[in-house]
Amino acid sequence: TQYVYRFGGGVSDGGQGNKNLLGGKGANLDGMASIGLPVPPGFTITTEMCTRYYEEGETFPDSVKAEVANGIAHIEAVTGKVFGDAADPLLVSVRSGARVSMPGMMDTVLNLGLNDETVKGLAETSGDARFAWDSYRRFIQMYSDVVLELDHGAFEEALEIAKEDKGFHLDTQMSAEDWQALVGEYKALVEQQWGKPFPQDVHAQLWGAVGAVFGSWQSERAKVYRRLNDIPGDWGTAVNVQAMVFGNMGDTSATGVAFTRDPATGERAYYGEFLINAQGEDVVAGIRTPQYLTRAARERAGAKPLSMEEAMPETFTELARVFDLLETHYRDMQDIEFTVQQGKLWMLQTRSGKRTAKAALRIAVDMANEELITRDEAIARVDPAALDQLLHPTLDPNAPRDVLAKGLPASPGAASGIAVFDSDTAEKRAEMGDAVILVRTETSPEDIHGMHAAKGILTARGGMTSHAAVVARGMGRPCVSGVGTLAIDAKAKLMRVGTREVKEGDIITIDGASGEVMLGSVPTVQPELAGDFGTLMEWADKVRRLKVRANAETPLDCRTAREFGAEGVGLCRTEHMFFDAGRITAVRQMILADSEAGRRAALDKLLPEQRKDFTEIFEVMAGLPVTIRLLDPPLHEFLPHEEAEFAEVAAAADVSIDTLKRRAAELHEFNPMLGHRGCRLGVTYPEIYEMQARAIFEAALDVAGKSGSAPIPEVMIPLVATKRELELMKAIVDKTAQAVFVERGASVDYLVGTMIELPRAALMAGEIAEVGEFFSFGTNDLTQTTLGVSRDDAGRFLTTYVDKGIFARDPFVSLDIEGVGQLIALAAERGRATRPDIKLGICGEHGGDPASIAFCEKTGLDYVSASPYRVPIARLAAAQAAL
Ligand code: PEP
Ligand code: MG
Repeated sequence: TQYVYRFGGGVSDGGQGNKNLLGGKGANLDGMASIGLPVPPGFTITTEMCTRYYEEGETFPDSVKAEVANGIAHIEAVTGKVFGDAADPLLVSVRSGARVSMPGMMDTVLNLGLNDETVKGLAETSGDARFAWDSYRRFIQMYSDVVLELDHGAFEEALEIAKEDKGFHLDTQMSAEDWQALVGEYKALVEQQWGKPFPQDVHAQLWGAVGAVFGSWQSERAKVYRRLNDIPGDWGTAVNVQAMVFGNMGDTSATGVAFTRDPATGERAYYGEFLINAQGEDVVAGIRTPQYLTRAARERAGAKPLSMEEAMPETFTELARVFDLLETHYRDMQDIEFTVQQGKLWMLQTRSGKRTAKAALRIAVDMANEELITRDEAIARVDPAALDQLLHPTLDPNAPRDVLAKGLPASPGAASGIAVFDSDTAEKRAEMGDAVILVRTETSPEDIHGMHAAKGILTARGGMTSHAAVVARGMGRPCVSGVGTLAIDAKAKLMRVGTREVKEGDIITIDGASGEVMLGSVPTVQPELAGDFGTLMEWADKVRRLKVRANAETPLDCRTAREFGAEGVGLCRTEHMFFDAGRITAVRQMILADSEAGRRAALDKLLPEQRKDFTEIFEVMAGLPVTIRLLDPPLHEFLPHEEAEFAEVAAAADVSIDTLKRRAAELHEFNPMLGHRGCRLGVTYPEIYEMQARAIFEAALDVAGKSGSAPIPEVMIPLVATKRELELMKAIVDKTAQAVFVERGASVDYLVGTMIELPRAALMAGEIAEVGEFFSFGTNDLTQTTLGVSRDDAGRFLTTYVDKGIFARDPFVSLDIEGVGQLIALAAERGRATRPDIKLGICGEHGGDPASIAFCEKTGLDYVSASPYRVPIARLAAAQAAL
């Protein structure tokens, strides 16, 4: 097996594009080399080596040592420098690179190859002793942290003290001698903490760094990131070893990061930041505030320091040409790292750029219109789950704002919540149900859990490409970064802006669109659904086969659902209507009655209310199918709890409080989810379903008469296990329909069907379809009953199950296709065998989950039904499934 692939200097061993083997970074370095772009020469050690490294007790086979030596020889040949040579030393970077980018999660070592001898050679050849000693101290610091795993605080402290002793504020004030002195201190620190001197053998340095990068694949933060992003642990990372180029060799040198289009808005404009006389990590770490790439961006921001376009016009023109070549080659927006060393441009990295949902839409639509990609590709490019970001409200532009400070609009969306100054507290408070804004001076990969728990992120430092910005955009969290006026005291749990103070627990609002930070919470408005969103949805609707409906039970939800493109209601849970303030007493009276007459008296009060509910829903959904599910939950869920509530029901029903309490006690169940619920209620108390059916048909006739556009009621019976249950319930519905039609002298079309949410129902689907005219898979209950896992209690142990790989994802979120999916496929097949035109849909939570939707497409269901905000996600996912 070949474990090392070279690139650069006219070589590209990888045949480009093999991300699984070379990792994303390695594959793209190879790709850039293959189209003749200026890539510093180097080589990639494959992800297969990473896997083997772990299999063989974290050691390297001899064959790979020879291959690496060969790789170093390649770099030496192209650069003319020699690794470890005292006169003209080659320096390399050692970086991780997994199949998918895991920003900041794994380790990097720069300036490798420096030691007490080569540092002098570097000083000679560069003609810059200060630069050489600065590089050496950076290298010792990084190597000690990443490879030797020493306490990095001690190194930072030594630097601070060195500066303080000289009365310096900035690193740039340090001279060659100052850096040399610090190198001495660093080496002493290493010896003291590690017990051995800092490694002087450059080959030992190299193997140490390669091992550390492979080792960082199993670091805690990398594991957390993989779990959050569904990245398998056995992929491994590649290691890229590459000749160093320096952006910190004076004013004709620079380093920068850029996007070929704006990653926040998707606008077709070069976008990025750069720093003159700096190294790459200076931009990302947010230590110095970077300058704009283009003049237009600088002018728009009203910033003074010259843009790259102005400061280095020739190099900028070359860079712009490279951007265009890259977009044409990769046919996607690229995220690039580059360095200019004494006027010469070098490309260090390119990859598909992370982008906000808004930008993803715009870029997909624009690129299809530019004919760079097809419409089908545009549909496939947008992650349905990311649409979530767009579909949620933004700040009301007309609401008053008490603006505290302004920073960079690093990730869009708006969020209000309590200010919290460390990630552990953020996680804790979020678990307690608080909306949290995580406020940090700058974030690091250690903050990942806090960022995930937070509704929004605010940092005092860092640019648009800082860690906080990149991670927040990836997670879809709003983020404001680089708020220079914020003085954060994390220890004291507070921040100050001028004379104003915000303490932990105070409510603040951030607006990721404007960069504003506000005191208090600010009201929000609904998102814009036209534009690129509308265009892409239109394309998606043309290719999808599955219909998309909504789970909705209020007129407001129905309206939202229609705006989002729902083609009907797939599940109207009628019990939610029973909890309304005006009704709950009548509902309780009905439940607590001990005779049919008593129940009917209460149901008579509920009938007009239910009719009103359905009338409003039918009006909103005119002409579309509306699936109404008859009462489902165990009755005890509606029981009164407090004395006053019992008294109210007692008065309404004209019985004593004691009688009511006795009756309430009788209703107690040990396992209500498997108890007296679903159609079992209709079997024992037919008058309940009769009232609901009457309300449905009267409302349908009212709306049909008024608007002329008749709704299409689909009456759905829950928790059916046997054909006989459905027969009995259908008889009630049909009889009631006939009665209403006769009374009114008019009729509407309707269907009666059932939910398939018990394994027995799925198995007996052939027989049940003799009665049921449609099936709707209630995958919440079907998952619960198939797995024997309570949907209400699973939270306590399911994360452990996911961590241990028992389930790839929470089966209540993403369908257990192997298990529960079999029951669905089997029920669909048996149902269709009996009734070829039977309508099949899904209305559990899975109806809004892209992976589950793909399964529904494969199984040939007719529709999926999801909560209103997930309807667009379902439309796009259904289109992707059909491609
Ligand atoms: C289901 O069980 O999947 C379903 C949609 O019904 P509910 O969630 O109301 O039990
Ligand atoms: Mg159910």
